Amino acid sequence: CGIVGFTSLNYQSSPVLLKGLEKLEYRGYDSAGIFVPNSDEGMDQLVREKGRVADLEALVATKHVSGTTGIAHTRWATHGEPSVENAHPHMSNDGRFYLVHNGVIENYEELKETMLKDVELHSDTDTEVGVQVIAKLVADEGLSTFDAFNKALTLFSNDSESAYGFLLMDQTEPERMYVAKRKSPLLIGLGKDFNVVTSDAIAVLDQTKDFLELHDGEVAIVDPSEVKLFDEHGATVTREPFHLDIDA
Ligand code: GLU
Repeated sequence: CGIVGFTSLNYQSSPVLLKGLEKLEYRGYDSAGIFVPNSDEGMDQLVREKGRVADLEALVATKHVSGTTGIAHTRWATHGEPSVENAHPHMSNDGRFYLVHNGVIENYEELKETMLKDVELHSDTDTEVGVQVIAKLVADEGLSTFDAFNKALTLFSNDSESAYGFLLMDQTEPERMYVAKRKSPLLIGLGKDFNVVTSDAIAVLDQTKDFLELHDGEVAIVDPSEVKLFDEHGATVTREPFHLDIDA
């Protein structure tokens, strides 16, 4: 339902992520979560809660969440009841990949049958199938994260009804976000020494008013001081950002 991502060199991500989720509350949701990687061993934080963003914030406050990058989501359940296990971000079983998703991977049952027979799933969502498929492509085919992400997007799009706004993190590249969009809104907000990603500009207007539009089928790699945009064939896309002249 709602997506916020943040990457920077020096700023803490969790205040930006949680404030962004608050701004997205008006859209409705049943659960929320964040993932914040930390360079210290074992200090990554995946925090998810059913119910209000305020409940998630209260839970985050009880943990040591520290890091300059992160992804966040408010969920409107389509596959699997509202619960902590079904809330996003979803994690691959190797603990390496974290995914938030708006929309529906329509062929997820088929992908589960054909690709994940030996993979234990921890939720009832189409989204978890998505992140486990990406991890499987990396593990079994030796693909880079970017190539695995693109291959997974092609698989999901085999059902023409599939829709996604995706934000993916690879724990081995903790400053980077992988982004993709198809039939679900997603924007990249540009800052000085940071970049944000969101499904709705309103979530990040206090951070930036300069946005890069993503078109259906496109993929982006978002780092703290650089954004690279690609079309569905992997060719580089050059696009001018636009300025949103409204108040937060
Ligand atoms: N289909 C996903 C789920 O049910 C995403 C729902 C959403 O857009 O929030 O978890």
